[in-house]
Amino acid sequence: MNIERLLRDNIKSIKAYSSARDEYKDASADMVFIDANENPFESTVNRYPDPQQTALKQRLSVLKGVEKSQILLGNGSDEVLDLIFRAFCEPKTDNVITLPPTYGMYKVLADLNAIDILSVVLESDFEPKVDEILKIQNSNSKLLFLCSPNNPTANSFNADKVERLIKGFKGIVVVDEAYIDFSTQKSWVSRLSEFPNLIVTQTLSKAYGLAGIRLGICYASEFIIRVLNKIKPPYNINQLTQIKALERLEALSDVKNEVQNILEQRNILRNALAPITFIKQIYPSDANFILAKVDDANLRYHQLIEKGIVVRNRTTQVLCENCLRFTVGTAEENNILIKILNQLS
Ligand SMILES: *Cc1c(COP(=O)(O)O)cnc(C)c1O
Repeated sequence: MNIERLLRDNIKSIKAYSSARDEYKDASADMVFIDANENPFESTVNRYPDPQQTALKQRLSVLKGVEKSQILLGNGSDEVLDLIFRAFCEPKTDNVITLPPTYGMYKVLADLNAIDILSVVLESDFEPKVDEILKIQNSNSKLLFLCSPNNPTANSFNADKVERLIKGFKGIVVVDEAYIDFSTQKSWVSRLSEFPNLIVTQTLSKAYGLAGIRLGICYASEFIIRVLNKIKPPYNINQLTQIKALERLEALSDVKNEVQNILEQRNILRNALAPITFIKQIYPSDANFILAKVDDANLRYHQLIEKGIVVRNRTTQVLCENCLRFTVGTAEENNILIKILNQLS
């Protein structure tokens, strides 16, 4: 499969901006650094950050078993997704395929980049319609977004279906694994070498508890990473984010304990939701949230707001009529939710 052919013409030939720290890389060397017009007085952040985030990628490389050259970091996965659009999708010409109901940013980014969307609604069990997706693609279909576990439906897609899609789609398949750390499924990162058209995105915003620092991760072939690296803003990951992320990735047992706690709480919450009479259906979850169908989502949403609880009302999304999405909180938060739900009439 020729990936270069999928790139936009201007991207094929683009030259990356060369920053001061790209031209002389070893910021730790015992040198006088007067090449970047920085203020020389030490404040811990008076110097530009490492544009290639070497220490952070080294740690991720060890943790995930992927070469550093196959990792790109972004200011949240949202920046990563935007870079992917700008690398592959020619405005007003190309299209991408999404599978609603799913993460809203794919459409926002498509609109922003003037890219058409072909959407193929999921089956009623929230699995992708593989044949229909492969049939609808055309020569301008550059990206296919598979969000697994999917937001807001909470299920992971069947792995055989995902594999058929990666093999049958003629563009790039982006598997968004924002919730993979809560999932019983294996990450597609381990299959990267088999599929040159596969991009996997992850984030530190969910299981790692670092939504505030904005760190998204992209895993792909060396070729794709090289292209995305060329077009990313030079210092897109700030110094404070690099430090904080590295600290967290070195305290993995804390992350694992928190994930374990959230998964236990998810089951407790699920069992407590089940007997509530206005909750009509609770969908299976492979993530840190639960989608549930209620009698009247707008009514229940506003009743909860009045009691000081904010959930996500997904009722306007296809297949999600009268559905609310509950993020699993702490035991204390979940207890408050359950108590309030049981008081509503
Ligand atoms: C929350 C979420 C993200 C995270 O985006 P960040 O920009 O990394 O915070 C990505 N994809 C999906 C499906 C999400 O739900």
